[in-house]
Amino acid sequence: MKRICVLPGDGIGPEVVESAVAVLKAVTDELEFEYAEIGQSAFGKVGSTMPDETLDLLRKCDSALFGAVTSSDSMADASPVLRFRKELDLFANLRPVKNYVKLAGRPSIDVVMVRENTEGLYTQNEQYDDKGVTTLRRVTRAASERIVRFAIDYSLKNARKSICCVHKSNVLRASDGLFVSVFRELMASEGRELEAREQLVDSAAMKLVNSPHEFDVVVTLNLYGDILSDVAAGTAGGLGFAPSGNLGKVHSVFEPAHGSALDIAGKAVANPTATILAGAMMLDHLKLRNEAAMIRQAVKSTYDSGHLTMDIGGRHGTKGFTEHVVRRLKRGAS
Ligand code: ATP
Repeated sequence: MKRICVLPGDGIGPEVVESAVAVLKAVTDELEFEYAEIGQSAFGKVGSTMPDETLDLLRKCDSALFGAVTSSDSMADASPVLRFRKELDLFANLRPVKNYVKLAGRPSIDVVMVRENTEGLYTQNEQYDDKGVTTLRRVTRAASERIVRFAIDYSLKNARKSICCVHKSNVLRASDGLFVSVFRELMASEGRELEAREQLVDSAAMKLVNSPHEFDVVVTLNLYGDILSDVAAGTAGGLGFAPSGNLGKVHSVFEPAHGSALDIAGKAVANPTATILAGAMMLDHLKLRNEAAMIRQAVKSTYDSGHLTMDIGGRHGTKGFTEHVVRRLKRGAS
């Protein structure tokens, strides 16, 4: 049995996590789910958006499935997501974006974003002075090396052909320059079998909309990866389609790339696909690869049969879509 820490969180988090857990239960009985609090809902109950008990459970479990949290405007609160990424040393954020449904006027996309998850602009180190605010942006050789190595290792294991380093080293010469030089060094030594490409972040955003076939695996810094994975998700149909895995040497947390989407929370209309696919990524990570493939196939077959979610103009809400996926998995198993 594998122990899974489940963190539903805020907004649509609990709705999409419930769907993903139902799908996981339909495909395997190898998982044991243990629930914990995070986000504003945790703050309301225990006075912290990231209770110590939640971090303890995350450390003890084999992996975790997380929904979303609503960001706090309070300067006093560190983001619970940044906190668990830091405390568990989840240095890589893996975001595969692929079409599960063909949408008129949008090109096909099959891109894997590998985003540095621990530094860059996400240090939350912001200092006021009498003129404004200075934000610390940190790029280290060690963090750059381990994310580029991760991208190379992922690409080789998953039969990917090229890695594109996305940066802005024409302006941020020292920091992004360091990231690019680490990329060049490691691709020349450990990634020789792969094609090494480079692209400035602004033109990369345009190409992810107009010609996403130009990308295979992308490795990039924290903020660029956050923004570009949403751009790529838009090409694939929207934020409801992009799963995400936070990975470290020991721990892992899987989640949809989207946030808590308060505008649609409680309306039962959220697309659960991203969270269901995050569950499939978790199964891959736990070496339950057949089960992961079965989930992806069930999602694809649901869309192929015309059962579309509301975010892409269909009629299925969160539960209706999930029921179709679960039914296909149960039919496949019988
Ligand atoms: P946060 O501050 O928590 O990141 P946000 O609302 O700013 O939340 P997202 O939650 O990522 O950002 O969502 C942006 C918009 O995309 C939402 O307002 C919603 O309309 C849409 N959206 C996000 N996720 C989904 C989903 N799973 N299904 C349908 N629409 C979604």
